[in-house]
Amino acid sequence: MKYDVIVIGAGITGLTSAYYMKKRYPDLKMLVVDKAGTFSQGNTAKSAAAFRDFFSLRENQIMAQASIDFYKHLQNDLNIDLGMKFCGYLFLFDSEKDKDFVSKYPNSRIVYEDLSKIFHTEINNETKKIMDIDSIKTAIIDSNAGIIEPDLMSQYYYNEIIQMGVEVKFNTEVKKLGLEPENSMDYPGEPFNWQKSSIKYIETPREKIYGDFFVLCTDVWTTALLDPVGIDSHLRPKKRQIFQVTSPGIREIINKNEFNDSGVFPFTIFPSGVYARPYPQASAFWTSLADEVNRDFSLMENPEPEPEFYTYNIKPIFDNYFPAFENSKITSSWAGYYSYNTLDYMPYIFNALNMIVVSGTTGGGIMKGDSIGRIVAARYNREKTTDLYNGEKIYNTYNGKYRATVIEDMVL
Ligand SMILES: Cc1cc2nc3c(=O)[nH]c(=O)nc-3n(C[C@H](O)[C@H](O)[C@H](O)COP(=O)(O)OP(=O)(O)OC[C@H]3O[C@@H](n4cnc5c(N)ncnc54)[C@H](O)[C@@H]3O)c2cc1C
Repeated sequence: MKYDVIVIGAGITGLTSAYYMKKRYPDLKMLVVDKAGTFSQGNTAKSAAAFRDFFSLRENQIMAQASIDFYKHLQNDLNIDLGMKFCGYLFLFDSEKDKDFVSKYPNSRIVYEDLSKIFHTEINNETKKIMDIDSIKTAIIDSNAGIIEPDLMSQYYYNEIIQMGVEVKFNTEVKKLGLEPENSMDYPGEPFNWQKSSIKYIETPREKIYGDFFVLCTDVWTTALLDPVGIDSHLRPKKRQIFQVTSPGIREIINKNEFNDSGVFPFTIFPSGVYARPYPQASAFWTSLADEVNRDFSLMENPEPEPEFYTYNIKPIFDNYFPAFENSKITSSWAGYYSYNTLDYMPYIFNALNMIVVSGTTGGGIMKGDSIGRIVAARYNREKTTDLYNGEKIYNTYNGKYRATVIEDMVL
């Protein structure tokens, strides 16, 4: 059993990578494997599934913008429902932001509408002293932003790869990458320094599956596969939790939007980073916070949400700013991981040996997923640049203007 390309991981980045590789090179004999029983059961399923093109780093903005444009094309032009709603991102800042700040983001504007109808915009002095938060000073809305459904997105790419003849094996956990010399002497301890070596196979509990090229889309589990072969994954896992919350006040506002006609309340980010993502299907918000300090980098197979995290880190913010949360209750909760690029939050997409590693999506793999797949296909052919859906170009290495990764290829 030998394949031209084996993609490990069938989350959103594995699916888009397989899709663009097979689309560009239809003759490739390709296999996608995943340890789960079906596709997108990892962090893709745990996601808040929101998208935006508001990023401080231009490269991230380019990757997100192009992906959003493609998803919009699928939904609007091809009638493929991705559950995409352009409800916008509403950023509430407790500091002043000027027009220059907003001018960097073409789809954003400072909000001058009266927010005090919806939020407590004034924070009293006592609270300011205790909580290090302040009254809302600036509000900005990014309109090229909203929510999407990762299962519908994944289903699209999955159907396409199946139709194109990509083979898929679920319930297939890769235990090991088989690093071997090109010309083996069958001597213990191979490969030696002077032997040209590459990944020859993946080892699963049932079999070894051989391939010429491998694409690792295993998110936070990448380190476990790369460490034994001495390749640095560069990623750090950070636990992320979501609490679904509803209340009479939330039910009243969830299908209203003062800023556009999407009919859904905007994804709202409060001072301190706490966010409320609308989930109109359950008349609720998904609430969360990408906490940095005091959150370690440990990784568990099935992380549990911590109710006290909601009580002490998230709820006090809503108590102060968002009256709709009065008498609210948690109706569901779950936890997953960001595969973190702790340097500049860009996805890692780099070549090492006969392999491309995709990771470090840092909470943005859904909104940048389509661009990531295109970058992988271009990298497979060792192209220096990638043409994204909307005609934007991104450089695949350091040398260019807008590079797609901070990690240089491992040249061996
Ligand atoms: C709480 C939370 C909120 C988020 N919010 C957003 C958001 O609003 N917007 C956004 O764009 N992104 C968000 N993200 C990030 C987004 O979910 C990820 O960037 C994205 O899902 C990564 O996709 P992936 O395919 O790389 O990883 P995954 O979906 O995790 O897929 C990796 C796959 O690899 C498989 N696998 C792993 N190891 C092995 C092995 N050894 N053998 C076989 N298979 C293996 C797993 O089963 C899994 O299916 C969020 C993430 C979390 C956790």
